[in-house]
Amino acid sequence: MTEGTNGMGQNASSGKRETRVIEPGKTIGVLGGGQLGRMMALAGAPLGYRFVALDPVADGPCGQVSAQIVAAYSDKEAAAELAARTDVITYEFENVDAEVAALLEERSYVPQGSRLLYTTQHRLREKAALEAAGATVAPYAAVSSEADLDAAVERLGTPCVLKTATGGYDGKGQFVIRDRSEVAAAYAELAASGAELVLEQFIAFQCEISVIAARSSAGETSTFPPAENIHRGGILHASIVPARVPARILAEAEQLAAQIVESFDAVGLLAVEMFYGKDGKLYVNEVAPRPHNSGHYTMEACITSQFEQHVRAICGLPLGSPDLRTPVVMVNVLGEHLDGVNKLILSPESVGTDLVRPKFHLYGKAEGKTGRKMGHINLLCGDTADALAWIDNAGIWPVEGA
Ligand code: ATP
Ligand code: MG
Repeated sequence: MTEGTNGMGQNASSGKRETRVIEPGKTIGVLGGGQLGRMMALAGAPLGYRFVALDPVADGPCGQVSAQIVAAYSDKEAAAELAARTDVITYEFENVDAEVAALLEERSYVPQGSRLLYTTQHRLREKAALEAAGATVAPYAAVSSEADLDAAVERLGTPCVLKTATGGYDGKGQFVIRDRSEVAAAYAELAASGAELVLEQFIAFQCEISVIAARSSAGETSTFPPAENIHRGGILHASIVPARVPARILAEAEQLAAQIVESFDAVGLLAVEMFYGKDGKLYVNEVAPRPHNSGHYTMEACITSQFEQHVRAICGLPLGSPDLRTPVVMVNVLGEHLDGVNKLILSPESVGTDLVRPKFHLYGKAEGKTGRKMGHINLLCGDTADALAWIDNAGIWPVEGA
């Protein structure tokens, strides 16, 4: 895909987008039928919206709570049907096929636009846009040969991380290079995918945080409180809110996310992942133009959830209050945790302290494979230390370092 030669690139230069107010009672089309679409539909229903999901798998997480068109994401006839049956279209993943995005923009109303997808689908384009927004990113280099990689490793130093520029999620498509002797192995592994590659310096961080920013089609902007994110095995394990960083960093992170969502001229949600470096600075890792796992805590802990905020933003409604009602820890339920969590739903008092109130969210996925996101629990608490102790006491998640 070359810049500017497809529907998305052309759109990027076509200037101002049209905006509409989509009133309650109208129908929202969602490209994708996973848990993000499901929670969007569950949050949009109280505002009177109906939902139609397009997904190749029937009766998936979203299809269980919405109408569904069962077809491949790249199926243009199905995309045209989605456009015909709905008043506004959004997506729950960023790897939307460029031709399908162009078709949907032509036949329907896609307030997020395809330019945002075009930027965030590719790590090099995304980094350039982040730098243009005034954000600091980890020093990086584009890599198109093993010799390139070797030179970049020498320049950026070790440790560093080689990533595919497109298609990565949950840490897939990455190789951490700890020593220059690993260059050949790293290149061989990632070049096999055929994707473009990017090398990043490994940021020594105190912790990872993220901010979910929203911007409505009317131009209103709002940010949720930053979450502190703990990853295990490359997958998000828990989000802690308030993040345990100095107050000035919380403010700086929200300000930075607001600046990025404005600069990207985004509509809908933009999740901004950041490293809080040991040097005290914030580095932006990546952004996602959709609801994000690290924003699931908002479901009970904020006045407005990220899903409701997304619906409000794309429909041109006033944004809701993002205020935090209570400290919270969100813990992910992967396939290997599902049996334990099902038992816990039946007898929550088995871990119970009345200091922590668990709210369960299961996604209705048929098969609970290891590492697959099956649900999450929002642990409402007075002190996030109690919720972290609750996770350890539950005995479902291996205790770090044990
Ligand atoms: P996800 O889908 O979970 O967001 P992803 O596959 O898009 O993941 P990244 O967010 O780029 O990948 O990286 C996954 C994790 O790897 C990060 O959250 C962080 O823990 C670590 N990581 C990635 N890049 C760097 C870096 N440059 N410096 C330090 N840690 C990094
Ligand atoms: Mg990430």
